[in-house]
Amino acid sequence: MLPSEGMILKIRQVGEQVLRQKSRPLSTDEILSRSIQELIESMRETMHDAPGVGLAAPQVGYPLQLLVIEDQLEFIQKLPPEQVAERERRPVPFHVVINPKLTLQGSDVVEFFEGCLSLAGFTAIVPRAKKVRVECLNERAESVIIDAGGWYARILQHEIDHLDGALYIDRMNSRSFCTQENYARYWKDRSIAEVIQQSSHPRVRLCDE
Ligand code: ZN
Repeated sequence: MLPSEGMILKIRQVGEQVLRQKSRPLSTDEILSRSIQELIESMRETMHDAPGVGLAAPQVGYPLQLLVIEDQLEFIQKLPPEQVAERERRPVPFHVVINPKLTLQGSDVVEFFEGCLSLAGFTAIVPRAKKVRVECLNERAESVIIDAGGWYARILQHEIDHLDGALYIDRMNSRSFCTQENYARYWKDRSIAEVIQQSSHPRVRLCDE
């Protein structure tokens, strides 16, 4: 059963199988169907309510290759300007991505803390490609090519990972994993290099030498 229009959906938390499944693509008829159009509307409301900058269908219980993204000016204005500049974060209008094919562009990798609505209360440093290209369909089943850089490229990689059953914890620098509360308390004003250095690995001895 798909939701009726304008419902705020329950966001599934890590440990639910749907977050670890591979999602299936949607046909044109399905995309244009009332039930998928209503799901898109509910996902938009759920993302706004959370609030978040992206939401993938598996996060609300549907293993479908569908996601929504919107990075609002209002969110960005609340951040320190140097953080916005460093992350290359710019407003992204609401849009829908269906059946995406992701290609990483170039070899530049950037590391920043990121979070996920399905791992509520946690964050970690995750390396991501700086630039990507996404070929997909929109909510009218039209072909779209997205060339993205900076924070938008990160959002796309994060959300498309959800469609493959992958979460940021599969890619994170695991030593940087922390609660949002401790991030705010200890790490938010430090550079990524500093965080990595200060949380870096002591020599692990697997056996007595
Ligand atoms: Zn997520």
